[in-house]
Amino acid sequence: MFVNVVLNEFLRNIDRILTYRVPDDINNLKIGMRVLVPVNKSFVEGYVINLLEKTDLPIEKIKPIMRVLDDITVFDEKLLNLAIWMRDYYRCNLSESLQCIVPSGIKNGIKKVKKVTLNNGYLDDVSITSRQLEILNYLKDNGTVLLSDLVKDLNVSYSTVNSLVRRGIIYVYYDEVNRLKMPDYKRTDKLVPTKEQEYVINEVKRSIGKNVFEKYLLFGVTGSGKTEVYLQLIEKCIEEGKESIVLVPEISLTPQTIERFISRFGNLVAVLHSGLSDGERFDEWRKIKNGDVKVVVGVRNAIFAPFTNIGLIIIDEEHENTYKQSDFKPRYNVKEVAEKRCEIEKAVLLLGSATPQIESYYKALRNEYKLLKLKERIGLELPEVEVVNMSRELADGNNSIFSRKLYKEIRENLMNGEQTILFLNRRGYSSFVMCRDCGYVPECPNCDISLTFHANEGKLRCHYCGYNINTVYVCPKCGSKRVRYLGIGTERVEKEIKKLFPRSRVLRMDVDTTKTKGAHEKIFNEFKNGHADILIGTQMISKGFDIPNVTLVGVVLADVTLNIPDFRSGERTFQLLTQVAGRAGRGSKPGRVIIQTYEEDNYSIVSAKNQDYESFYNEEIRYREIYMYPPFTHLLNIVISGPIKNDVVNCAASVYNLVYKTINKSEKKSYNKVLGPSSAPIERIKNNYRWQIIIKSSDRGILQNVCDVLNTLKLHRGIKISFDLDPLNL
Ligand code: ADP
Ligand code: ZN
Ligand code: ZN
Repeated sequence: MFVNVVLNEFLRNIDRILTYRVPDDINNLKIGMRVLVPVNKSFVEGYVINLLEKTDLPIEKIKPIMRVLDDITVFDEKLLNLAIWMRDYYRCNLSESLQCIVPSGIKNGIKKVKKVTLNNGYLDDVSITSRQLEILNYLKDNGTVLLSDLVKDLNVSYSTVNSLVRRGIIYVYYDEVNRLKMPDYKRTDKLVPTKEQEYVINEVKRSIGKNVFEKYLLFGVTGSGKTEVYLQLIEKCIEEGKESIVLVPEISLTPQTIERFISRFGNLVAVLHSGLSDGERFDEWRKIKNGDVKVVVGVRNAIFAPFTNIGLIIIDEEHENTYKQSDFKPRYNVKEVAEKRCEIEKAVLLLGSATPQIESYYKALRNEYKLLKLKERIGLELPEVEVVNMSRELADGNNSIFSRKLYKEIRENLMNGEQTILFLNRRGYSSFVMCRDCGYVPECPNCDISLTFHANEGKLRCHYCGYNINTVYVCPKCGSKRVRYLGIGTERVEKEIKKLFPRSRVLRMDVDTTKTKGAHEKIFNEFKNGHADILIGTQMISKGFDIPNVTLVGVVLADVTLNIPDFRSGERTFQLLTQVAGRAGRGSKPGRVIIQTYEEDNYSIVSAKNQDYESFYNEEIRYREIYMYPPFTHLLNIVISGPIKNDVVNCAASVYNLVYKTINKSEKKSYNKVLGPSSAPIERIKNNYRWQIIIKSSDRGILQNVCDVLNTLKLHRGIKISFDLDPLNL
């Protein structure tokens, strides 16, 4: 017998798939097994992807497999098909997409520990020392225990233990352990669903367990009880003997979220997140593989959980950016992968959000997804939202970063012992310029995104198309000279608060304060337990914070998000404001939200104030169509990088020509536009210069052709090219 093996190597743009002979002493070789094979003069790891009865290759040229590395398969044929689909859809390598599927801890293997237990058949009348008697009593009380625990608890030596083992009074043996300790939670019963919930649950239930591929979008406002819907659908799946995967965004996978699933389904749940060590992740993976659990709750890559009989895949907060792997290959979007997996498994896909991604809602309106709605918050009023125009504040002589209104409300909260959240999305680029009098921000006339300020050359640049102008010092709209670069961040907010309210207890949560492991959790708990009055933070605090005593949320400057140079900035702003506003008034007291901005008429802000998704969607989709952004086109972002700026710029120019030729070769009639080359929003990272070319096309196939050309390019002098098909961040 022969096999095809794909080599597990990541340095090339093209896979090496080679044929090997299976020697007689290896039997039971299956697709999905990890093997060691000879390549040239060394040995390389690879995966069996095909079993062959015969081959046309000359027999004497075919080398035998050296060794099988595990006694289990690391993927089955259905997952292999998913990986092959990913290779084709994202134009990556098979070895790269398989890398997503294979658990990283597999090389460390299973952890075994020594356990010790009593031999129930031993005779009581044998002579034993008092130390030995202590051991026997301990085992009588505790049953089977870890040897290390026994030695520690009783402070006995291993030789004392061994003497009992030698006489057959106790046994010591190796056993597998699961490295992840699951906390014990109180069991909770299911809630009686509301009318709205019941309708949604029944709709989806009709497809579960029927081996049909169905797609649903659940649009439910924050606090409308989406999670309870998920729980009852998972229960149905379990009843049908099917498995479920629940994906949540990284920052939402808090102990509270995990608790909600474990308290309902107990040890039928496995958890996969990036906080696990390789070993812990592998142990969870084995529980799934062995069929010990029926539900997986996890972040993005939990989509590859090795279930074999999936009934339901849920993606909560489906609009979240973290569902796209943007930083490294394969740059996949887990919503697409989940959809494919459901198609392969004939399962149900359920996307849920209070602010669905524009593309998702567009699909739902075109019946590609079945649209389900939850319109009411359970037992809570929506908070009262007020927008404060900051240019009016300035005109009235207040040039603090806090409006008089917000100042007054913070003070009131402090006096009443209620808690306040102050939100400022400083992450990313605050490098846009703005007129402090009227809020004017210079934009690109071609792309309708804000221009990025480049201090060193005194220019404002569009990083999509390269359009640039000298930086403005006088506002073209109102003539004011107070046009400046906006550099306000969370740290500044903290300083101001401490100045204004010296006795307030303040916490800050952003990338800088949460670098260490567990810091996020610690700040959260401190705030939740009432050890601080005010929490200042970036989008990290926009989700999952369910703290009853928070009655005030202040958005310090909504414009920061609004002017991120990305065509999705309007959508992001609306999503963030909606999420943040949802943090106020979760308890018995009503919530107030104050949004500070220079652009009070912007539709993202107006719709967020009115908590009106549909009107936001209608405006946004119109704008997307006018400027031909997704869902009306697909995008391809090509980044050319290298240590020498001139080389990067030259390479970008030749890539541009190549791209242009490739697109023109296509015979199909489609909308295509090549933007750039232009410097990336952050032009230099770790001494690498980065330039980018963005292509918009109504035909994704054309973009795939461009990727294929890029994959075969010969590059020199430290230049690298990476690309992202359907990017979420530009
Ligand atoms: P979402 O996920 O839509 O933001 P949650 O699932 O967190 O909403 O529900 C909000 C709150 O309402 C939670 O405290 C939850 O326990 C409660 N809840 C949900 N469904 C019901 C129900 N049918 N009866 C009573 N309380 C419910
Ligand atoms: Zn102005
Ligand atoms: Zn432009």
